[in-house]
Amino acid sequence: MPADLEKYRAKRNFRRTPEPAGGSAPRVSDRPQFVVQKHDARRLHYDFRLEHDGVLWSWAIPKGPSLDPREKRLAVRTEDHPLEYATFEGVIPEGEYGGGAVLVWDRGHWVPKGDPSEGLAQGKLEFTLHGEKLRGRWALVRLARRTGRRDDKENWLLIKQRDAAARSGNAAEIVDARPESVLTGRRIEGVAEDRDRVWSSDTGESGGPPAPEVGRPDTIPGARRGALPRRQTVQRPETADEAPDGPGWLHEPELRGLRLLCRVDRGKVAMRGAEGQDAARRLPDIASALAALPCSTALIDGFAVVFDKQGHSEAPSLEEAETAAERIVLVAIDLLHLDGWDLRGAALRARKELLRLLLSEAPPQLRYGDHVEGHGADFFREACRLGLAGVVSKQADAKYRGGRGGGWLRVPCRQGRRAARRSRGLAADEP
Ligand code: MN
Repeated sequence: MPADLEKYRAKRNFRRTPEPAGGSAPRVSDRPQFVVQKHDARRLHYDFRLEHDGVLWSWAIPKGPSLDPREKRLAVRTEDHPLEYATFEGVIPEGEYGGGAVLVWDRGHWVPKGDPSEGLAQGKLEFTLHGEKLRGRWALVRLARRTGRRDDKENWLLIKQRDAAARSGNAAEIVDARPESVLTGRRIEGVAEDRDRVWSSDTGESGGPPAPEVGRPDTIPGARRGALPRRQTVQRPETADEAPDGPGWLHEPELRGLRLLCRVDRGKVAMRGAEGQDAARRLPDIASALAALPCSTALIDGFAVVFDKQGHSEAPSLEEAETAAERIVLVAIDLLHLDGWDLRGAALRARKELLRLLLSEAPPQLRYGDHVEGHGADFFREACRLGLAGVVSKQADAKYRGGRGGGWLRVPCRQGRRAARRSRGLAADEP
């Protein structure tokens, strides 16, 4: 699906907002979060919530957000919600206020432009969203109240600002293209059927496992307390003929590069390749970006690559690294450990979500290796058309076992393989 790869590329080119200089980056979990909940109440709508000062400012958006800057979406201000509500996905019983199924349609953190309290009071909030589906700059603008009407409803408009994350036409209708929960992958009908968590307005929610917190490894199912691993074998895909087409698979472009396990230990960084060499000294920019991540310990699996103008990846030559250093980037594909939590037993989907948040304000030489979910055959076809080496398809709920297989499949494009050989000889990670 062209839109999917287009999205992938747009994310890689995404220009983050500049962060104030200084080494005291906030911890992942301390950033103010935003959440969009799809709510199938009497009328389907999307609840858009921004964390500020211990509460969630809230708006109900009947049509949901659009990525088209010309599509201004009505957003009716509703009451502030408690922070705990941000993770709620489940069913509000019939008869209760807002009865119906709720899913967490998008989550991430938001960066306001200027003082958000002032913006709210003055009726214009501008901000950047770092979510899975909603990215880039947005604005909420309050409409003037109609004279002669005395309801207390505040009508606002949610507007995508023009930037690399904006889209038009069908590609802008992300609520249709991506209806699923970012926490569980379920659709709203699935949430209604499962009834695994039921919200009660008297007692707060009850029943079912809590949904993971944004950027909090301790709330992810399968994560357990553990030391930063000393040794770890990287996981490698088995070769397959076709990309699986069903749901529950994450598809990534196959990277040609130098596979590195990056160990971050309180500002000290080691980057180990297959031969046990430490690439950190050869790649000082990447090493210092890793050292500055908002965490104390981490183990990140990734590829050091060089992208050519067509977006094709190649393995960098470490001997030439000093002269080519500014072109080499680390594409991070997995997160095995974070801040005293061993994540190898957690689902890939949860590991990658944590990785994405960890890297969301990292400098450009550290990239999150994004994926698309589902549509494997379309993604594969499009990857091959673009001359990429192939795709790697991974089971969304797979643990990280190390070694070959484990729910990872590599599906090479014939064209891409030929092109890759022509251009640079054997890739470093060729199985
Ligand atoms: Mn609602």
